[in-house]
Amino acid sequence: MANQYDVVVIGSGPAGYHAAIRCAQLGFNTACIEKWLTKDDKTVYGGTCLNVGCIPSKALLDSSHKFLEAQAHFADHGIKTGKVSVDVPTMLKRKEKVVSQLTGGVAGLFKGNKVEGIAGTGKVVAKGKVEVTGHDGKTDTLEARHIIIAAGSVPIDIPPAPVDNETIVDSTGALEFTEVPKKLGIIGAGVIGLELGSVWARLGAEVTVLEALDDFLPAVDRQIAKEAMKIFTKQGLTIKLGSKVSGSKVSKGNKKSVTVEYTDSEGEQKAQFDKLIVCVGRKPATENVVDASVGVELDERGFIKVDDHCATNVEGIYAAGDAVRGPMLAHKGMEEGVMVAERLADKKTQVNYDLVPSVIYTHPEVAWVGKNEEELKEAGIDYNVGSFPFAVNGRALAANDTDGMIKLIADAKTDRILGCHIIGPSAADLLQQVVIAMEFSSSAEDLALTMFSHPALSEAVHESALALHGHAIHIANRKRRK
Ligand code: FAD
Ligand code: AMP
Repeated sequence: MANQYDVVVIGSGPAGYHAAIRCAQLGFNTACIEKWLTKDDKTVYGGTCLNVGCIPSKALLDSSHKFLEAQAHFADHGIKTGKVSVDVPTMLKRKEKVVSQLTGGVAGLFKGNKVEGIAGTGKVVAKGKVEVTGHDGKTDTLEARHIIIAAGSVPIDIPPAPVDNETIVDSTGALEFTEVPKKLGIIGAGVIGLELGSVWARLGAEVTVLEALDDFLPAVDRQIAKEAMKIFTKQGLTIKLGSKVSGSKVSKGNKKSVTVEYTDSEGEQKAQFDKLIVCVGRKPATENVVDASVGVELDERGFIKVDDHCATNVEGIYAAGDAVRGPMLAHKGMEEGVMVAERLADKKTQVNYDLVPSVIYTHPEVAWVGKNEEELKEAGIDYNVGSFPFAVNGRALAANDTDGMIKLIADAKTDRILGCHIIGPSAADLLQQVVIAMEFSSSAEDLALTMFSHPALSEAVHESALALHGHAIHIANRKRRK
């Protein structure tokens, strides 16, 4: 029967397309339903990550970084450029090209792996049954032995600043400004707010970030967060903590602006911006993806309830990615998608939720994994810390990229690495070395005894491991041990 599948996946973001491809590799007859349409009504795979998330934001971060380098830093290398200017439409076009190359890549991977891509909106209507509503409104019912829901997430709206997609935008709109706003306001100093703020600040916008919390980056190691605040402020971002937005008013007329009302420790304040980006978090896109009669349980925030292996409470129905608990990160969803597929093939695959790396792709990048000092103190675990600044790393100096540091934390008794916290150039890639070490239960000494090529930024990882035992070569050691 044409509409019968072993596996039907709803959503083709990182969680969904990884699940679908791995299922097909394992021999399951697999379909993946996707509702996303481009502005010219073409179905595209890849979800938030490829279309309006990780990839386009990094494309603009890279373009704006190059602009800033040319404008402010080439001269230090003895490179003369004359006046450097930005052509925003060309920058956006390049971003779109990168996006379509990757979304087209997923379509190619579906074809190559024999995953059937189905355009439309999927809804689980019964155990083993998914209804698809096509873009023409016609419905069809698919039968599946297993169903994987990977519906992802959407930006959260807040009543004080309703998105109008012109003056007040969400993260998607912030990837599409056709000119650099003179004064840009951002609500929320989270990962997305800081990345988008960096893009437009580098291109010349005067950026103010309003953050309700008194703490900056509360999930990040305090020392690293403090360093990040110092560096971002030096780069020109004005970050106002303890500033809760309570209202906004968009002016009428041709050249619109928005007046934002917020409350800080000194009382009620107002600020005027040409554009405002609302980046206050994301919520699971789980409304209408499962009919209530199926009995799949959701939590009070709309996340589909799953166990450690992404199984819902209903047999044969699984959920992964941003639609379920845990950090809303593409790589976390990818691993979950693969895990579900492999467990359907009776493999014992698990996701190590203790080792989900987090990255903020500012420059320098902020990256962390495992426990930070505050968490270890609270848990009463004795630990040692080894820190190393990029200011004395030869490769960082050669590149004129010396802001930041690495902190490695290990158990005081066993020396097992418990966490790593980095602010610095290529922090994401450096952190990954430690993630691998931690996955293999490495001690700090194991890292210290590993040979690192010279000159490389990763020598800072090595030196932080040496510093943890008081043996660092290129800094004075706080505690020297024999
Ligand atoms: P999504 O990527 O949201 O995909 C879900 C898909 O399901 C969508 O395509 C949607 O159209 C489809 N869908 C939903 N319901 C249905 C339905 N009923 N029928 C058919 N299709 C449906 N994460 C990182 O790890 N690193 C980053 O650098 C990073 N940067 C980001 C930058 C921005 C600006 C944003 C917004 C997010 C960023 N993220 C980043 C987060 C990352 O994009 C998400 O964690 C990731 O996309 C979640 O993957 P997913 O597969 O769960 O869901
Ligand atoms: P994240 O969850 O990492 O995307 O970050 C979103 C940030 O937005 C959080 O740090 C919130 O504290 C912040 N936030 C949420 N609502 C408001 C508000 N009304 N005014 C200012 N900041 C807010």
